[in-house]
Amino acid sequence: MLDLDADTRAALFARAAALIEAHLAEDRARPLAPTLGREGLAAMRAGLDALDFEAPTPPLEALEGAMTALRAGQVHATDPRYFGPFHPAPSAMSVVAAALVATLDPQLATHGHAPWPVEVEGRLVRAIGARFGWDEAETDGLFTSGGAESNLTALLLARAQAFPELARRGARALAEEPAMYTSTEAHPTVARAAQIAGLGAEAIRTIPVDARGRLKPDALRLALARDRAAAARPFLIVATAGTTATGAIDPLPRVADLAAEHGCWLHVDAAFGGLAALVPELRGALEGVARADSITFDPHKATAMPLGTGMLLVRHPGALERSFHARAGYMPRDGARDPYARGVPWSRRFAGLGLFLTLATAGWDGLAAALRRQVALAERLRRGLRAEGFRVLDDGPLPVVCFVDAARAGGDRARHLDGLARAVLARGAGWLSLTRLPGGGRALRACVDNHRTDEGDVDRLVGALAEARATIAEGP
Ligand SMILES: *Cc1c(COP(=O)(O)O)cnc(C)c1O
Repeated sequence: MLDLDADTRAALFARAAALIEAHLAEDRARPLAPTLGREGLAAMRAGLDALDFEAPTPPLEALEGAMTALRAGQVHATDPRYFGPFHPAPSAMSVVAAALVATLDPQLATHGHAPWPVEVEGRLVRAIGARFGWDEAETDGLFTSGGAESNLTALLLARAQAFPELARRGARALAEEPAMYTSTEAHPTVARAAQIAGLGAEAIRTIPVDARGRLKPDALRLALARDRAAAARPFLIVATAGTTATGAIDPLPRVADLAAEHGCWLHVDAAFGGLAALVPELRGALEGVARADSITFDPHKATAMPLGTGMLLVRHPGALERSFHARAGYMPRDGARDPYARGVPWSRRFAGLGLFLTLATAGWDGLAAALRRQVALAERLRRGLRAEGFRVLDDGPLPVVCFVDAARAGGDRARHLDGLARAVLARGAGWLSLTRLPGGGRALRACVDNHRTDEGDVDRLVGALAEARATIAEGP
């Protein structure tokens, strides 16, 4: 029953492939977001409750039903008109990879069970590390479920290095108060990692940022000096390369100097901004990143991979083993390093195949070309917005564009901006998000993170914004 018969299976897979192709062909023609409303949501829930698992649905019918429901019941981040928070459209090769991985389901917990997949991921880690300026010989790392897991793992590595007794003696080993540093614009998973790790929210020194959202190195220097004087133990600095709110990149060289001076582990959260490492002419924006001890890079934020494709790069071979050592007599061993003893998860899915096949077919140049185009489209968007009297608030190298409506009094109020975003969505011209700026103000945020977005999409977005402004009544 679970395997179906060969004919049904063949028909099912053929239909799934046809549905996938039809979905891709429907780009720009579908509603971008569900318009459920309260009643629609109630109907959706009622439909799910009415599903009777005692009376099985035929496979083809279940497939069609799921596709119809998915299409109606989610925001379509894969559509070229989606300009929301970091969420690229998966490449065609990564879609195929997901199907292969689900079919063969290699177990990457041990090298012996899946030597090719484990070697593939190792090769990718070294290759991406090299793009960040590391020697392949000093590069280690792992595929992760995403930035949250990468940031947590990095914090645990930094903690283990600063407090080697901690693994054995637990919190009693902390003779000095541990202190870590990150900016007010850092991703919330950094603070949560400190809580999960038992350091507590008070271990985090939150460093202010400049008007563009970049950590202020002088404030960091003062905080470090203050903690030194108070006999706390600074052990970790987390810099961000590409903040989620505005795409800001912290001044990495100066932060790296301070980390070196104070013996701190330097972690760079480049979940999205790491894309600059893959485009030769953008690499300068990440100057200093090679001095990091560890780097978060999320292919599912930055490079056309499906969700569940994160990476943690570590410049200290052996550090992962020291923190995550484990042995189980029943795990097969072949003498090579086993991923289960090098990170938080035990069983591991082959997350790297999509990136491997995408790189194998597009090459570094193909990947860089797609990213370069997204950066150019963001620049086109900035120009278009300025020409229409919007005020663009940032000019960073990453394809994140924050703006307010300078042509209107109150054009930076959340209500007006939200009205614009809704009107643009209602016209089917784009999905925008509202963001909070470092100073507390609000702005619209458009991120070009989709390799299928083109000039027409950007121009229609600008046109729709200009039209929406004309039709929205003056706010109070
Ligand atoms: C999204 C994001 C994260 C969290 O990553 P997930 O992959 O969603 O777990 C961490 N840092 C930054 C800068 C992010 O944008």
